[in-house]
Amino acid sequence: MSKQTLNFQAEVAQLLHLVTHSLYSNKEIFLRELVSNASDACDKLRFEALDKAELYEDAPNLEVRVAFDKEARTITITDNGIGMSQAEAVEHLGTIAKSGTKDFMGRLSGDQKKDAQLIGQFGVGFYSGFIVADRIVVESRRAGLPAAEGVRWASGGTGDFEVETIERAARGTSVILHLREDATEYLSHWKLKQIIGKYSDHISLPILMQKEEWDSEKSEYVQKDEWEAVNSASALWTRPKKDISDEQYADFYKAISYDSEAPLAWSHNRVEGSTEYTQLLYIPAKAPHDLWNRDKKAGIKLYVKRVFIMDEAEALMPSYLRWVKGVVDSADLPLNVSRELLQESRDVKAIREGNTRRVLAMLEDLAKKDKAPEAAEGQDGVTDVVSEEDKAQAGKYSAFYAEFGAVLKEGLGEDFANREKIAKLLRFASTQSDSVSVGFADYKARMKEGQEAIYYITADSLAAARNSPQLEVFRKKGIEVLLMTDRVDEWALSFLHEFDGTLLQSVAKGAVDLGKLQDEEEKKAAEQAAEAFKPVLDRLKDSLKDKAKDVRVTTRLVDSPACLVVEDGEYSTQLARLLKSAGQ
Ligand code: ADP
Ligand code: MG
Repeated sequence: MSKQTLNFQAEVAQLLHLVTHSLYSNKEIFLRELVSNASDACDKLRFEALDKAELYEDAPNLEVRVAFDKEARTITITDNGIGMSQAEAVEHLGTIAKSGTKDFMGRLSGDQKKDAQLIGQFGVGFYSGFIVADRIVVESRRAGLPAAEGVRWASGGTGDFEVETIERAARGTSVILHLREDATEYLSHWKLKQIIGKYSDHISLPILMQKEEWDSEKSEYVQKDEWEAVNSASALWTRPKKDISDEQYADFYKAISYDSEAPLAWSHNRVEGSTEYTQLLYIPAKAPHDLWNRDKKAGIKLYVKRVFIMDEAEALMPSYLRWVKGVVDSADLPLNVSRELLQESRDVKAIREGNTRRVLAMLEDLAKKDKAPEAAEGQDGVTDVVSEEDKAQAGKYSAFYAEFGAVLKEGLGEDFANREKIAKLLRFASTQSDSVSVGFADYKARMKEGQEAIYYITADSLAAARNSPQLEVFRKKGIEVLLMTDRVDEWALSFLHEFDGTLLQSVAKGAVDLGKLQDEEEKKAAEQAAEAFKPVLDRLKDSLKDKAKDVRVTTRLVDSPACLVVEDGEYSTQLARLLKSAGQ
């Protein structure tokens, strides 16, 4: 192929403009993105070579090299991974095949820090090279293709790019950045090494840089012909827990999740038994923008014996825990496992159950430590010692719940085996608590004597719930009612009929039977009223016959003259409205 000039797809041109202009103060992420592409390319080679060992050619040791040339003002990132054919270079570097791109552009907020995270999330990292470069040259040869079928791709990052055929002996890809005037600071061993340490330390293959030596004649550092690894190159999850600092755990989380905040909690375990695997699971502090997309894939990366197999291994986590991030490394799965195979594997089922248990246990633990423990002086004058660690956990569960509580509720309908555990983790506002902090267990602990059910009401908002006439009798009798205002509440609650032996009862359904809480006099009064009002009721029933199934005298109201209720076992007016708005 002789040299051709091609135009970027319109969206790419637009994206390039946005990326270079919106990430200006966060320039250094270009290296994170390009190193991560190099590492991905090595992972892909390793994967394809599983049943095609000849792809390794004569270079079986996968690595990434980062070099710079002060005179030429270039930085070059080279990998010996899968490489790109000519068609792939055009396709992958000139068009945006991914559906998320438009969404990405719409979401750029102008906050450079946030936008820098987004870039990685949406997989448009390559273009971040143009933040520091006014020209990028990519030279590549795909593993397995002859040396004569190399490709050179070059662009100034505006409207078009050039491609041509080149001869390239080495398999893999070199990305050559011709630095802009204001990016000179990156022509430094120290600087590049520092950025690699910050973002790419966990990359499980060596990232090499040339050694430097002080030249006293020239009075400057000169590069030697010797290369050394500048990252620790060990897959973090394979190291013993005691050798990993909190900071390293947090950095690893940031690297795999593209979240800029530290995680709320994590759990790292070697699970032994009939299926053996290592799990490193994180609970993020903030929900991702697409939390509500139920098609969103799980945040778990699957490795088999440290070989990367796939991102977003949805079979390893139930959908209601799709926001958990982490890594699973199993020695029991075959290396060529596919998504389809994963769905059927018994080992995978065991891993999913193990992951689920672990996440629920982490949440239980956070929930237990949520209220700030006070070092209370007991009656015997002994002060309970509260560990610093426990104190640091206070408030985390509330924070977690505000972000992820609603999606956790999906688990009631999805994961029957863990329904009890999930129910224990739920929190609601109530007629006695403004904050969403009442669990079913708290509620039960303060139930009135003689109260036989846990009462709740569903509504669009807290205000609507609180002002509902259905609550009148409960208020009068001082009975707490849980206020449920999440859209999923009613659907989720339809899977939970009782908690720890106590029935859950919607105050808006059927005839509210307050059971022993109602005294004899009240019951008698109600019966008499029903008798006395019979003619009125009959006339109302008759005139409302198309609109209401029944009209009856009630004890649930105190001040209001009338209210609507639904029959037991039917959708509430709330859910009916919801289903209608969803087109059902
Ligand atoms: P993402 O990495 O999320 O796919 P990028 O914009 O970073 O998005 O890269 C776009 C695509 O370009 C990659 O998916 C890959 O196909 C190709 N690519 C980029 N860098 C390399 C590389 N070093 N080796 C092989 N292919 C690469
Ligand atoms: Mg990338």
